[in-house]
Amino acid sequence: MIQIEGVKKIYQLGSVKVEALRGVSFQVHAGEFVAIQGPSGSGKSTLLYLLGCLDRPTSGRYMLEGTDVGVLDDDGLAFLRNKRVGFVFQTFNLLPRLTALKNVEVPLIYSGVAGDERRARAHAVLGAVGLLPRGGHRPRELSGGEQQRVAIARALVNRPAILLADEPTGNLDSRAAEEIMALFEELNRSGTTLLVVTHNPSVAERAGRILRLQDGLLAKDEMVQHPTSAGTPQGEA
Ligand code: ADP
Repeated sequence: MIQIEGVKKIYQLGSVKVEALRGVSFQVHAGEFVAIQGPSGSGKSTLLYLLGCLDRPTSGRYMLEGTDVGVLDDDGLAFLRNKRVGFVFQTFNLLPRLTALKNVEVPLIYSGVAGDERRARAHAVLGAVGLLPRGGHRPRELSGGEQQRVAIARALVNRPAILLADEPTGNLDSRAAEEIMALFEELNRSGTTLLVVTHNPSVAERAGRILRLQDGLLAKDEMVQHPTSAGTPQGEA
């Protein structure tokens, strides 16, 4: 689903070049749950931006579902981003004047989905994150954890190929963070491909794989052992 080959990203600040990514390669298959870790400044956000088609590599190749992202023009990049990528941010980024349900509908408005279908799909996905009873509330009437669930519903409503999250539990207390992680796990079990930048070790523990960046390079790529959940779950019919 994702193929990154020798990807470099250089920011030019006046006469100064910042090499944020210095040649990164990896693949992610459909259905994986990948945590991206690394110290501040190691290139995590840059990588997430590239993966999310918000930017292009300076060199190297990024293939998303067989499309070479590097050769797309701005419209092509925007189209791919809107259709195939869902984003979740640390700060939720909901529109304050809209209800939860309307916030979830917004990406469908941009995709040109008609009113009735829009409402039905927003309804369904808000239900999937367990927030239908709060559908008529505005963001300020919701807790942080609830706001993040609305943001996740919004990210999923276009049925993206990948869901990208940047420190999604960074602004949440530990209980709300736990709920969001459980939701990610559930989404992943039902087939969503997830890449999550996180400092939170318990998010990383739930992922199937950890990519560790260091100084713009991939320092580690390891599978996570889940002794209790490996293979076919016992006692689950
Ligand atoms: P992380 O998310 O791991 O903290 P970033 O991807 O934000 O790392 O940053 C990697 C490096 O690239 C840092 O040295 C940072 O200062 C630099 N950088 C990030 N974004 C920009 C930008 N828009 N312009 C210039 N330099 C940037």
